[in-house]
Amino acid sequence: MPRDCLYCGEGLDEKMSWGALFQRDTRLLCDECDRGLVRIEGGCPGCSRPETEGGLCRDCMVWNRHTEWNGVLERNVSLFQYNEFMKEVLARYKYRGDYVLAKASASLMRTAIPKADLLVPIPLSPERLYERGFNQSKALLDEAGLPCHELLTRIHTEKQSKKTKRERVTGAQVFRIPETDLSGKKILLIDDIYTTGTTVRHAASLLKKAGAREVSSFTIARG
Ligand SMILES: [Zn+2]
Ligand SMILES: [Zn+2]
Repeated sequence: MPRDCLYCGEGLDEKMSWGALFQRDTRLLCDECDRGLVRIEGGCPGCSRPETEGGLCRDCMVWNRHTEWNGVLERNVSLFQYNEFMKEVLARYKYRGDYVLAKASASLMRTAIPKADLLVPIPLSPERLYERGFNQSKALLDEAGLPCHELLTRIHTEKQSKKTKRERVTGAQVFRIPETDLSGKKILLIDDIYTTGTTVRHAASLLKKAGAREVSSFTIARG
């Protein structure tokens, strides 16, 4: 049983409310840190964008206007809002290899993850993997004890941010899959954050071409 908050290191007993004390066996974060993780309830049915009412958000409508992207990704489900706290937690996770986020979201992930035949993490380039030492998307599945199918490899290493929006939308395929028959399979892509939705759509389009029946994505945060 952890004595201290996994994130801030404060003693859990001192910083927990009476209500939370009942869950102390499973609690990893103090109340203050726990409040920083804001669950997305509702949101856009297409991408989980928070505070979207009445159908698809503008981002989703823009994607659907491109014939080549329309319907490629069934939907994206995200757990938490990308607020200041999440920004810090994600940075600590990705760049410092601090597993707090993966541990803190493990049980929620097991219950909230949509059903699929294969759970496929978004890969890092070999260079990035070497630098970081781990793939944050795969680690989320591993921490949650969920099966992981590393179907994709990354072939394009250029940073997405250096490209224009148009290049990102229409740009060349960044992933590769081995010769596999994915006929009839329902696939769920796993990533840490959904921002523009470009990454998961590139992966989804490749998987669809390999025969996948349906591709959705699941991310910890919605940027
Ligand atoms: Zn804390
Ligand atoms: Zn949307």
